[in-house]
Amino acid sequence: MVGLVIVLKEPVRQEDIDKIVERLQGVGAEAHISRGQYKTVIGVIGDREKVMQIPFEAYPFVEAVVPIMKPYKLVSREFATGTSVVKTGNTAVGPPNFSVIAGPCSVESEEQVLEAARAAREAGASLFRGGAYKPRTSPYAFQGLGIEGLRILSRAREETGLPVVTEVLDPRDVTQVAEHADVLQIGTRNMQNFLLLKEVGSANKPVLLKRGMSSTVEEWLMAAEYVAKEGNGNIILCERGIRTFETATRNTLDISSVPVVHALSHLPVVVDPSHATGRRDLIAPLVKAALAVGADGVMVEIHPRPSEALCDGPQSLDLREFKEMMEELRGLCAGFGKTLQDLQG
Ligand code: PEP
Ligand code: MN
Repeated sequence: MVGLVIVLKEPVRQEDIDKIVERLQGVGAEAHISRGQYKTVIGVIGDREKVMQIPFEAYPFVEAVVPIMKPYKLVSREFATGTSVVKTGNTAVGPPNFSVIAGPCSVESEEQVLEAARAAREAGASLFRGGAYKPRTSPYAFQGLGIEGLRILSRAREETGLPVVTEVLDPRDVTQVAEHADVLQIGTRNMQNFLLLKEVGSANKPVLLKRGMSSTVEEWLMAAEYVAKEGNGNIILCERGIRTFETATRNTLDISSVPVVHALSHLPVVVDPSHATGRRDLIAPLVKAALAVGADGVMVEIHPRPSEALCDGPQSLDLREFKEMMEELRGLCAGFGKTLQDLQG
């Protein structure tokens, strides 16, 4: 297997792209076209022997052929002409937007979800989150409302217009969850559940892929490659903290992974300070850190009454705290070249 990128000379003509694509198809290789503001590139994945026989540089419209040395190809930075933008509903995650995904840890009732969703929308969030299937450390803890939870999430979308992000735990549930969700979340515990990754890779919905709590950046990108390889390139990466010796926070937020990933991959990256820290008092400062470090957004847990939450109350902002955080964020975004995506704006 080989991965390489063919950079085309400007101005690019469609017939030239077609010539290369035809040649690649002739040897059973895949061609992925990426048109950027300044450059058009064709990413190639195929059998090494066969692809290397094609004299790409002999075509007068080819500027350069760059091999991709990394183990991941489709998600590597070279494979696209800039950071990708993942569109869902009337919102988009990726430059220049700073997207705020907000909602409760789990769907507990229609009332709780609708109250949180209205507040999320009003404060300027661009996506709504909530778990219908919950991956809990204890089998005795609340496991989520399942299909009823999915229906409640659909109602929240109908009422607020916010696209819904929700976790899928089991490959057998992907079709059903995809009927209700706008974005399929893969949780930290499932980052290397390869069957699940393949299944969401064949689904027709964007995927939010959380970093495994004990995974390296390279393992995380290889997990994303599994999804992309099945044909689904609409992937949002989510840094949610990793395990270290530190016990002051639930996990340790590896904020450096944001620029590290941006240098290695074209996928947009959001930060989840809620699961990273487990502490409500750290959410606002770390949301600002995420903006400053170049993240494409954040995922934040909110709850109308955190003290009554069935899951993750201590890390959830109440609705007033969330509103205040959003007001401060709104003033800061422009200074970092970002637009706070606001469906009302
Ligand atoms: C969640 O976002 O609901 C969740 C369970 O997060 P994580 O997989 O990061 O623990
Ligand atoms: Mn949670």
